Amino acid sequence: MIIGLTGGIASGKSTVSDMLKEKGFPVIDADIAARAVVEPGQPALQKIADTFGRDILSSDGTLNREKLGSVIFHDEEKRKQLNEIVHPAVRAWMMAEKDKAIDKGHKTIVFDVPLLFESKLTWMADRTLLIYVAPPIQLERLMKRNGYTEEEASARIASQMPIEEKKELADDIIDNSGTKEETAKQLEQWLARLGIDS
Ligand code: ADP
Repeated sequence: MIIGLTGGIASGKSTVSDMLKEKGFPVIDADIAARAVVEPGQPALQKIADTFGRDILSSDGTLNREKLGSVIFHDEEKRKQLNEIVHPAVRAWMMAEKDKAIDKGHKTIVFDVPLLFESKLTWMADRTLLIYVAPPIQLERLMKRNGYTEEEASARIASQMPIEEKKELADDIIDNSGTKEETAKQLEQWLARLGIDS
């Protein structure tokens, strides 16, 4: 079974992902995939250079994210082009990691995907698990974790799909508004209820 783990910014997804890793679940992280597929020598990086020009490469051949960011910033069409290169590569990378985990004998695999709903990637998972947090606590934790002002934190939260909306879309929800211990307990109960082990 593939679990699609998601959340909102600072909702506690990484916290729960760490708990799952500690329990022995293989966690395949979309953010790591997104970095891996644009490493030098990867076909996606070659395609990016072909599409946006070799200027977006640093002298050592790695992707110059700042330059690429300035190229796609405010340009919807270019951003779409970039996603059309990167997204399939990310999916293929995650599927390959999944196959490796299955070969190792795992029965349940976690796909950790921050923008699972926004990117319409729910089809990749058999069940989606949302790490929810009440919005005022989300704001508070984001300000504290990243040292943001209230304005900066609010802007980042506002740029994502509202967590209340994600709640409607998720198969299962863990409410991380309380203590980490309470969250760990909900996770235990959820795993037990569905009879999930790694
Ligand atoms: P995400 O991965 O969803 O962005 P994190 O797991 O990094 O979120 O959690 C956001 C911040 O809130 C981190 O600094 C984390 O240590 C803290 N945090 C997470 N869960 C709790 C909790 N239940 N109680 C207090 N702080 C928490």
